[in-house]
Amino acid sequence: QSKAKGRNSYFLFTQQMSERIAQRLTLESDMRRALKEREFTVYFQPKVDLASGEVSGLEALVRWVKPDGIIVSPEDFIPMAEETGLIVPLGEFVLDASCKAMQVLQGVGCSALTVAVNLSPIQFGQEDLVEMVVANLERNGLPASRLELEITESTLMTDVQSSVAQLNRLVELGITISIDDFGTGYSSLYYLKNFPISTLKIDRSFIRDITIDDSDAKIVETVVLMARTMGIGVVAEGVETKEQLDLLATFGCATVQGYYYSRPLPLEKIIEFLLGKNGVCTIRR
Ligand code: C2E
Ligand code: MG
Ligand code: MG
Ligand code: MG
Repeated sequence: QSKAKGRNSYFLFTQQMSERIAQRLTLESDMRRALKEREFTVYFQPKVDLASGEVSGLEALVRWVKPDGIIVSPEDFIPMAEETGLIVPLGEFVLDASCKAMQVLQGVGCSALTVAVNLSPIQFGQEDLVEMVVANLERNGLPASRLELEITESTLMTDVQSSVAQLNRLVELGITISIDDFGTGYSSLYYLKNFPISTLKIDRSFIRDITIDDSDAKIVETVVLMARTMGIGVVAEGVETKEQLDLLATFGCATVQGYYYSRPLPLEKIIEFLLGKNGVCTIRR
């Protein structure tokens, strides 16, 4: 009897496995095709300076728009893109599209914005990353100072020695580096001391219950204070309500990002958002 059961679960296991493998292969070949057919596009979400209420920068967030119009979230394809290495050409596409968008924005009078591009650990590990970034900036005529790269704590964990070198090369060019999803990885004060980091982005899981969960509030308040003390910028991610915003203001949080101000939007919509009612881009630095 136990033998039969064993055989059964073995059967289930292999069937599940082959289904998973088939799904993976489909997704992978779908993604390759989508890259060629230009189905990927970049949305932008504003980051707002709390004191002035002005947009200080945009975060570039990739979207996959299927031919039937369905939009696939990056959470559903970035992991596969990383496993297959497709993240390298995809990431380069996002960077290129982001630089081009900044030139379009400059053309409508928004010339002081920065754009933040997410960098996968796989991209970070590429030997020619810096060359690729430089080539993109040059090709698109965008000064390095207008580009920010967002990396996560786990990216820095893998190889501390080469991470420092890689980051220093980017920073020497004038690019700024922020730590994304801060607090969800192996947050270490070591990074803050040894890496040239300009901004911490506090993960939205800490912001979500900030007005009802006292320990979340205390964590956020402390991270804001620490960043300020060290002269590092700080962004609260996932701000959805006025109550969250007001509390963050009392903590002295400099910058916020979230649905409260705007969801990530395609470039045309971001232009409308930035130009506002009077049609003038009033973004200050
Ligand atoms: P992330 O870099 O932490 O980006 C912020 C995510 O939070 C975005 O999800 C954004 O839409 C979402 N978000 C912003 N404000 C709010 C809010 O108020 N409430 C809620 N519930 N969510 C909010 P998105 O666009 O789905 O991206 C998810 C993740 O996928 C990103 O997290 C990033 O890790 C990754 N990703 C997106 N684009 C790229 C890319 O071009 N390259 C790489 N390597 N990763 C990317
Ligand atoms: Mg990010
Ligand atoms: Mg984040
Ligand atoms: Mg995230």
